[in-house]
Amino acid sequence: MDRHQRLAILAEAAADDREHGLAKGRPGDPVGITKVRLPGGGCTNIMRIMQTNACSLACGYCPTFCGGKVKRTALGPEEVATTFMEAHRAGLAQGLFLTSGVPGKPVRAMDRMLAAVETLRRKEGYRGYVHVKLLPGAEAAQVEAAAQLANRVSINLEGPADSYVRRLARDKDFSGDLLPKLEMAGRLLRDGPQRGSTTTQFVVGPAGEKDREILGLVARLERQRLLHHAHFSAFQPVVGTPMEGEPSTPATREFRLYQAEHLLRQYGFDFEELPFDVDGNLPLDHDPKTAWALRHVEQFPLEVGRAPYELLLRVPGVGPKAALTLVRERRRSVFRGPEDLRRIGVDTVRAGYFLALRGRRLSPRLPAHQLRLLPHGRHLTQAAWKTPVPPCAFR
Ligand code: SF4
Repeated sequence: MDRHQRLAILAEAAADDREHGLAKGRPGDPVGITKVRLPGGGCTNIMRIMQTNACSLACGYCPTFCGGKVKRTALGPEEVATTFMEAHRAGLAQGLFLTSGVPGKPVRAMDRMLAAVETLRRKEGYRGYVHVKLLPGAEAAQVEAAAQLANRVSINLEGPADSYVRRLARDKDFSGDLLPKLEMAGRLLRDGPQRGSTTTQFVVGPAGEKDREILGLVARLERQRLLHHAHFSAFQPVVGTPMEGEPSTPATREFRLYQAEHLLRQYGFDFEELPFDVDGNLPLDHDPKTAWALRHVEQFPLEVGRAPYELLLRVPGVGPKAALTLVRERRRSVFRGPEDLRRIGVDTVRAGYFLALRGRRLSPRLPAHQLRLLPHGRHLTQAAWKTPVPPCAFR
């Protein structure tokens, strides 16, 4: 097989990873290139390559596992560097995400990945974005080398504790390998001279872990600045894999985990505030911010003209950008009605019950879909809708 045929196979294998976009490339896209959104807006193109899809491990959810019926191939370190630089020079890729299967000794496979990135940095003089996935079993010196060479380093934790990871991937060692390696990479990138960050990924569902356990670990790592953010992958059984008979996990659960992680990272929520149900999972029927607000209705409405930024962020339908614009604009102009708030990005249907303008709620009642979700015993009576608006708790 020539290099481009091998690239097609390895790019397809790398597309299963959640890092850098949830979707595989669209038909017609150059091989291995994924368009990703940037945090501040706009898009960039990342080339995702699995250096080899040969693997001797038996992760139960993975089509590339040792018993999988897939065509196995590999790119050498020089070939990875050449392939990426060709795409980069043609303006097709502005960054590289490099992962690999583990054929035989992990240390050897990891060395080949590091050699590819070293070639890019030293021989090709490439200074741009590189993300290296650490392999299970990588040595401490390899973690250090990855932290020096790459802008982002990740290792998939898969689950939040040993028992779950054993169920998912019998060869992986959560507390003896994956977690300490992620923490080590996090410390090196947090405290060292190089600017970089770490990410990780969880397989959600088949091992029986709870959202509370996943997010508890994520919150601790993010609080210690050992982790930039986490990815969550709702389990989907793949025919021919050891876990093909397990039920799939609803995509909504994955979406709620992402929303809750955003509350921790971007909305100032503490882990203890996340609105888990008694079973330890997030409610599926509503986003976690709305679920939290409905459990704290006594704290609303917030007066638009005075509420601090940190509290506006807690209103359903108000994102960081809208909250910031609101705080800036109210210094120089007056918000007269919902249309003024809509203009700056507030979703007034979701936010209406939680915001007040000059003492009057924007909307006297919750939309039906939010009303259904009031915690048990807290249904507001018709009379309650008609009572005067209570003074804003934060005025
Ligand atoms: S290490 Fe596990 S997840 Fe990675 S390719 Fe091998 S079987 Fe798949």
